[in-house]
Amino acid sequence: MRIVVLTGGIGGARFLVGVRAYAREVGAEVTAVVNVGDDLLLHGLKVCPDLDSVMYTLGGGADPERGWGRIGESWTVKEELAAYGAEPTWFGLGDKDIATHLVRTTMVNAGYPLHAVTEALATRWQPGVRLLPATDDRLETHVVVSGPATAGDSGADGPDGGQRAIHFQEWWVRHRGDLPTHRFVFVGAETARPAPGVVEAIAAADVVLIAPSNPVVSIAPILAVPGLREAVAGGPARVVGVSPIIGGAPVRGMADRCLAVLGVECSAAGVGRLYGGRSAGGLLDGWLVAEEDAGTVVPELTVRAAPLRMTDEAATAAMVRAALELT
Ligand code: GDP
Ligand code: CA
Repeated sequence: MRIVVLTGGIGGARFLVGVRAYAREVGAEVTAVVNVGDDLLLHGLKVCPDLDSVMYTLGGGADPERGWGRIGESWTVKEELAAYGAEPTWFGLGDKDIATHLVRTTMVNAGYPLHAVTEALATRWQPGVRLLPATDDRLETHVVVSGPATAGDSGADGPDGGQRAIHFQEWWVRHRGDLPTHRFVFVGAETARPAPGVVEAIAAADVVLIAPSNPVVSIAPILAVPGLREAVAGGPARVVGVSPIIGGAPVRGMADRCLAVLGVECSAAGVGRLYGGRSAGGLLDGWLVAEEDAGTVVPELTVRAAPLRMTDEAATAAMVRAALELT
């Protein structure tokens, strides 16, 4: 069996731990197609937060408490940068983490495409699943906000009532999403191409799983790569989504804020409707919701309920089994 997972960072990484456990049990092959919309340049370094969350988590090097970055991290470089007053100060890069970004940036500057760099980094971490960026091209999630710009803001003041676009990380990490927010824009999406192997993996898959990742800023930027949504929705594989929303709230993070920007109800039903059923021009065949949301109905979708808390590897593998049994 071949499984493809569309995934963001922390939530998706935890889900992949369960997918890998299930795959080992049944002898399946797993390819993770990872969001790159969060990627950014910091102090000249190319940082790929979602790829790194997945790689560190599957490689056993992630900090389980913080959820992002390396375990046993130190922050000497960050303190030194702060002593220089070097902006941005709102995004913390740990010393160990910086080594990853140095290797990646060196390879990118030498002309290697991101998928090749990702493969090279994974040689160390042995994640046990194939990691592919959704695209090798620049595709960055920006957020159109209003309100006065403050010192250190990226994005010029716009002519339209003070609207301006800032990088997603600035919106998320610096402002905690707490600005008047109008929309998300996937800069570069029109001309981005799926990374080599992505469309091929989807076409060869028996099942495509949509991880319980943020639908608005983790899954949508993947699907914004031209040809990728079509490959999933029009492909031979069954497509099953897993809800990141339990009992009307995200388990962690700010998916509620993101959904509100789109005017989508923060519920398992709301996200199910956002993805939509394949027979009605949407993405999914099946939608797995939490036990707390049993009884959820989404037109054109087969909905099942199961325990959806990723407390440990076994519980997460059971979730994956439930998702695969859904269709
Ligand atoms: P990010 O890129 O690091 O923000 O991570 P993702 O987008 O991959 O995942 C974030 C989502 O994971 C959030 O919307 C959470 O609600 C969801 N999530 C986190 N833990 C759990 C869990 O135990 N169960 C479910 N169903 N969703 C979870
Ligand atoms: Ca992310």
